Amino acid sequence: MTRIGVLALQGDVREHLAALQACDVDAVPVRRVGELNAVDGVVIPGGESTTMSRLLDVFDLYDPLSARLHDGLPAYGSCAGMIMLASRILDTRPDAKHLDALDITVRRNAFGRQTESFETDLDFTGITDRPGAEPLRAVFIRAPWVEEAGEGVEVLARIPSGPEQGRIVAVRGGRAGNVVATSFHPEVTGDHRVHQYFVDIVQGREQQ
Ligand code: GLN
Repeated sequence: MTRIGVLALQGDVREHLAALQACDVDAVPVRRVGELNAVDGVVIPGGESTTMSRLLDVFDLYDPLSARLHDGLPAYGSCAGMIMLASRILDTRPDAKHLDALDITVRRNAFGRQTESFETDLDFTGITDRPGAEPLRAVFIRAPWVEEAGEGVEVLARIPSGPEQGRIVAVRGGRAGNVVATSFHPEVTGDHRVHQYFVDIVQGREQQ
């Protein structure tokens, strides 16, 4: 059975484990190198990226996780997880580390004070473009956006309307094309389609 780990240092780990279990995979928390080495894919949850960065060092996981990502481990990051996977981060602490697995520039806390938290319906390439599919409800909590996506990074979703219309909030890329990141939190809505999208990538049976 496919085993997907959720980095369990901080953040909304339980919700991701539940969403992955609903997609019929073995979902396990990852806090040690041995656990990391036993997974076929990894989810980096929402939380607080500078704290997560510090805890990766405390738990001696930064180097092993970087190495596995560099070797092509499939990964999905939501919110703080998107920040951790990015190559470049704006508005973070100078000492915060990130994993450089996705060629994007991310702006932390980008939506600003007035809309620190909000919800909207999105079109998401590969999910809502299937016949009969409903739009995807997206929950943003002090979310980042993708300021710039590098060549070879596919934009999967953008903010559909309002002052931030067009901002990129979901992408796919990485050295092996199997790294996904969303600014929002699909693990809190009970709609498991984003997790299923990632599981399909891990299992190599995604629809093109
Ligand atoms: N603002 C947080 C950070 O900078 C991310 C928020 C979240 O993951 N919900 O890491």
